[in-house]
Amino acid sequence: MDKYLVIGDPIEHSISPEIHTRFASDTGQKLSYTRLRVKPADFTFKVDELIKDGIKGMNITLPLKELAFAYADTLSLRAELAGAVNTFKIEAGQVYGDNTDGAGLVRDLKFNLGFNIKDIRILLLGAGGAAKGILKPLLDEKPSQLHIANRTPGKAFELQEKYKSYGNINASGFLDISGKYDLIINATSASVTGDMPDVNPEVLGKNALCYDLMYAKKPTAFINWSHTHGAISAVDGLGMLVEQAAESFYLWRGVRPKTRDLIFELKA
Ligand code: NDP
Repeated sequence: MDKYLVIGDPIEHSISPEIHTRFASDTGQKLSYTRLRVKPADFTFKVDELIKDGIKGMNITLPLKELAFAYADTLSLRAELAGAVNTFKIEAGQVYGDNTDGAGLVRDLKFNLGFNIKDIRILLLGAGGAAKGILKPLLDEKPSQLHIANRTPGKAFELQEKYKSYGNINASGFLDISGKYDLIINATSASVTGDMPDVNPEVLGKNALCYDLMYAKKPTAFINWSHTHGAISAVDGLGMLVEQAAESFYLWRGVRPKTRDLIFELKA
């Protein structure tokens, strides 16, 4: 039976094994998928060992995505631009690194939430690893504008410079965002500590959708802020999590699993 797993630290909370086991049973694929805690200092040794044992693929989560980027023999363009890898596909000892986070977000927005990204104005809060992973797939959808705002503005300006050839992109600190936006994505980790980035609610356009990449059983600070200030809808990143997993599964097995019922069940 082909073996897959997710590695990270911490890893106990990861629901990727449940998601992939469900995909396998739904699509009739015979595979096993487990989780393994790997500390950054042990990354190379552990991954070498797993490959020697015949592992077919891996998901890589915090804080190992940059190490995975450096380890891969070849990379997809979206992983190369992000500087981070969340998926390894291993064939004949060769490691292909991909980043499926952005595709997962875009699929959740378009196909599960029915939200059209073309020609809209996007405000992206945050300039860390997650923001880097979603920028290119978002720009590929041809929004009319994408504004990145970050607590440390210099990092937002660096991303503007790096991605400017892929679309209409500009940058600022939180307090210098101007105009109104149709889609506001929280890619900061502020929700982890129950905080909301210092953003003026005036940025919310009429019928704006707010999307927090973080997922949690209770509404995040960003989701509460969105509802308080009149967003038409505010959702968390559970759909993205399932969709990025589906994208990895597709890369490994060549079969795209259905996701909608699973997202619905996990949200219940
Ligand atoms: P990073 O540590 O790489 O980046 C953190 C970002 O958050 C930086 O831009 C940082 O700003 C900003 N930040 C941190 N604290 C605050 C605060 N209190 N107020 C305002 N800004 C703050 O984290 P990641 O990019 O990897 O992860 C971000 C979020 O995305 C996490 O919640 C993570 O769980 C989620 N995620 C969800 C996925 C999914 O599938 N749903 C996939 C990947 C990530 P500064 O630069 O100034 O430090």
